[in-house]
Amino acid sequence: MIQKDTSTYKSVEIIVLGLVQGVGFRPFVYRMATKSHLTGWVQNTNENVRIQVTGLSVNIDGFIVSLKQHAPQAACIEEVLVSDIETTLFPSFTILGSHDVSDEITEISPDIAVCDDCLCDINEPGNRLDYSFVNCTNCGPRFTIIKDLPYDRGRTTMNLFPMCPDCHSEYESILDRRFHAQPTACNDCGPQYEMFVENQRVSNSIQEIIIQVAQRIDNGYPVMIKGMGGMHLACDAFNESAVKRLRSIKSREGKPFAVMFRNMDELKELAFVNADEELSLDSWRRPISLLKMKQSKTENVLAASINANLNLIGVMLPYMPFHYQLFSKLKTPAIVLTSGNFSNEPILIENQDALDQFSAHVDAIVLHNRDIYNRTDDSVVRLMAGKERVFRRSRGYVPAPVRTSLNTEGIVAFGAELTNCFCVGKGHKAFLSQYIGDLQGIETTEFYENSLVRFLQLFRVNPSLLAVDMHPAYISTRVGLGFSGVPLVQVQHHHAHIASCMVENHIDEKVIGVAFDGTGFGTDGNTWGSEFLLCDLSDFKRITHFDYIPMPGGDQAAEEPWRIAVSYLYKIYGSNFTALQLPLSQKIDKNKVRMLVRMIDRKINCPLTSGAGRLFDCVASLLDLVQVATFQAEGPLRLESIIRENITENYRYTISETICFDETIRGIVDDILNRIDSPTIATKFHNTIISVIFETVNRIRQKEDNNQVVLSGGVFQNKYLFEGTIDILQKNNFKVYSHATVPTNDGGIALGQLAVASRRRELKCV
Ligand SMILES: [Zn+2]
Ligand SMILES: [Zn+2]
Repeated sequence: MIQKDTSTYKSVEIIVLGLVQGVGFRPFVYRMATKSHLTGWVQNTNENVRIQVTGLSVNIDGFIVSLKQHAPQAACIEEVLVSDIETTLFPSFTILGSHDVSDEITEISPDIAVCDDCLCDINEPGNRLDYSFVNCTNCGPRFTIIKDLPYDRGRTTMNLFPMCPDCHSEYESILDRRFHAQPTACNDCGPQYEMFVENQRVSNSIQEIIIQVAQRIDNGYPVMIKGMGGMHLACDAFNESAVKRLRSIKSREGKPFAVMFRNMDELKELAFVNADEELSLDSWRRPISLLKMKQSKTENVLAASINANLNLIGVMLPYMPFHYQLFSKLKTPAIVLTSGNFSNEPILIENQDALDQFSAHVDAIVLHNRDIYNRTDDSVVRLMAGKERVFRRSRGYVPAPVRTSLNTEGIVAFGAELTNCFCVGKGHKAFLSQYIGDLQGIETTEFYENSLVRFLQLFRVNPSLLAVDMHPAYISTRVGLGFSGVPLVQVQHHHAHIASCMVENHIDEKVIGVAFDGTGFGTDGNTWGSEFLLCDLSDFKRITHFDYIPMPGGDQAAEEPWRIAVSYLYKIYGSNFTALQLPLSQKIDKNKVRMLVRMIDRKINCPLTSGAGRLFDCVASLLDLVQVATFQAEGPLRLESIIRENITENYRYTISETICFDETIRGIVDDILNRIDSPTIATKFHNTIISVIFETVNRIRQKEDNNQVVLSGGVFQNKYLFEGTIDILQKNNFKVYSHATVPTNDGGIALGQLAVASRRRELKCV
């Protein structure tokens, strides 16, 4: 035996911070260390992974580089701290047991799409042949099955499935891909699928279920399939009558459906995909990505009612073994895959509920016996200005925290009303909840309250400060007020938007905030939504906004864009507007219009709004793109959908104390009467808004000597507007900040509320 010369050896301690647990990090460290001829150990603690290694300096350096470069896909390394320690000669490299400090939190991995190795397993003879619940340390369910920490099988919904001896030996074997993979299972010991037709169980053979489901979908029938975070409804995406039937089952009139494609090649047939979009779609998070559709020249067209004639489509790739198995038998290359629920209710997760509510509506229901503990929807993203922007943050993204230098301990932020997410604080982390939805139905409110209790327990948060919106009627505000005895901070909606974007971008100074959305309660009691703020995390000053306009019928005006169009026309033209030969005049009953004008005159149920979304609605109505919306933000989406990129003109507007669009509307009306085509008008209108934003922040910069612009609010989901705004601001040397991992819509509000509360607590003004 050759004696090694250890005199040149050194030892270091390495601390790895970030999401490094439950993602196969320790076995990875073991493999890298042994490959680099290092001895020592690796250990999980609650806050990080600790490593000590001994060996040649060059090998240690290589090892540290490979830790960062080759980490498992779902690991998220925030920081690697290296310090020299006294040289210690270890006999080998070992994985030590977890160092559990009980009440401190560990991070939880989001759910991970099935990996290629596991997909191979289901095609190989053995105990995982055709096994739909295959997973390993690199893939599989996480957040959706976790009930409590520390993360081990007993605290997940896999606790009902004791591992068979084969799985157990893989679980115990350091070099195995399933070493300490908590949901490890196989045909002998794990969960199984079952199929029901008319409430009767007809099969529990996976091979048979796949064939039956594929046949039903190919024959034009809708089916329900239990997924990772909830039930899905599915049908052939090329079959118009099947898609229509799905719409009527869900009672969902117009809101676009997401489509899952067999693979990237099939997807590229029907949608434009650039390299960044491809990376995002194919990432382990497997979000729904909003892409521009191709104008198909062949027969090969998706059912028209999938996306309400918009040129955008939400697409995704398979992410569960079952999806791959299904596509192996399906003839159609794409299926609609939408949340299994009735409109306005949260996605179903209970087997019995699925059978009770949907047996009469769908041709088959496929369930499995692995319980879903944390309900999650499919996430939605859009690639804009070269980055993935998360619009709906759920599966694959939650519950990754936002790190901040603020002290977030014990803060609970309750979010907004629509597109709700809440946020809880622990140490210097903010945990945004999964997408909850619109807090209007009882079921969604129950989901909200239950999830809140679960987050508090999971992350060991003891509420010491609450943050709510200023809107007195928000359900989230009322739930917050129900936590009696805990101090409470009310945060203005648009201030929360900007604060959210500031925290995401780690900025903590005075900025110019541009918050554009549909509605948010203002400090003057009016409905805000086109706000130019000068603000920091503690407070804000409202510099300017779009002119107020009466919103006849209140919330109803947000659902019926013609109402806001009448309001603008009446303001600008007086009663003469009815003589204008606009499509609106033909579409809407004259008596209704007269009644609306009377409401405005008498100020009956006509709250004032500065919401940018309402101006978009007005223009969408003038162009007759929508008069009564069938889904949220339909007007703005339709306007964006017809944009023609090569038009650079814009309309006139007036900026004084506030921003007035009378001349814009006049210009649009003239263009309509002169038969200028709608794409030109829509594009000129977008250019106008971009110009208004630039000119306004430029004035603020000159006056306030501030060069930092923070963009937030749902209006910035509009790609043309978003990219155009960033472009002109950057060309004029502004420092521009926007959202990426936190939604720019109301789903990001809670993070801002939490940040404002934290700062006010620090300043002792709560
Ligand atoms: Zn795997
Ligand atoms: Zn097994």
